Amino acid sequence: MNHLTDGELSDFVRGLVEPAKLSQLRDHVSGCAACGEAAAFYQRVQAAAFVPPEAAPPAIVAQAKAVFQTSKRLGKLRRATAKQILPGAGGWTMAGVRSAIHSGTAKHAVFKWVDFFVDLRAELQPETIRMSLVGQLANQTDPDGNLESVQVRLMTGQKTVAHAECNRLGEFALSFAPARRLYLEIDLPERQGLLKVPLKELNPEEMG
Ligand SMILES: [Zn+2]
Repeated sequence: MNHLTDGELSDFVRGLVEPAKLSQLRDHVSGCAACGEAAAFYQRVQAAAFVPPEAAPPAIVAQAKAVFQTSKRLGKLRRATAKQILPGAGGWTMAGVRSAIHSGTAKHAVFKWVDFFVDLRAELQPETIRMSLVGQLANQTDPDGNLESVQVRLMTGQKTVAHAECNRLGEFALSFAPARRLYLEIDLPERQGLLKVPLKELNPEEMG
């Protein structure tokens, strides 16, 4: 069979492949170095993003609770900037997000803030100067939490240039023309904060 598609790899590590197809995919992954490596990478991202709550270090849980209580007490959103933990070196797409475009010009990066992971893939859309950005938000202390309708804004300065809403799984997609100093602003659920994700590494305008 052919190499696994991004969608198949994503489903494979998440255990979402139907039983009839699973053994076929498993055989290929175990015999193919490229797909084995890709699956291992997806697995690491999944493991990082979906640690069960009881396994989360107490300090992290305490920090998350403190943030939640602080923002409640202050009655306004806390602002924070996510830190990049995986480079935008191109290659794999993130688990859980499908992209119809496979042009080989994608960049991938993973960001983290307290318990939240933001997994992003940016791609130049063929025959246009627009970029597509697909992402997944995950909360490692609440992996089954519903992230539907979480607001994601693509900003430059104070200006919103594109807007998206997460689906139930925390997935979102945006399309935009590259501009300088782009960042994402995410309204975290439960008023946990307003998360800023700098896009320097994924933005052609900031490269070179
Ligand atoms: Zn393969």
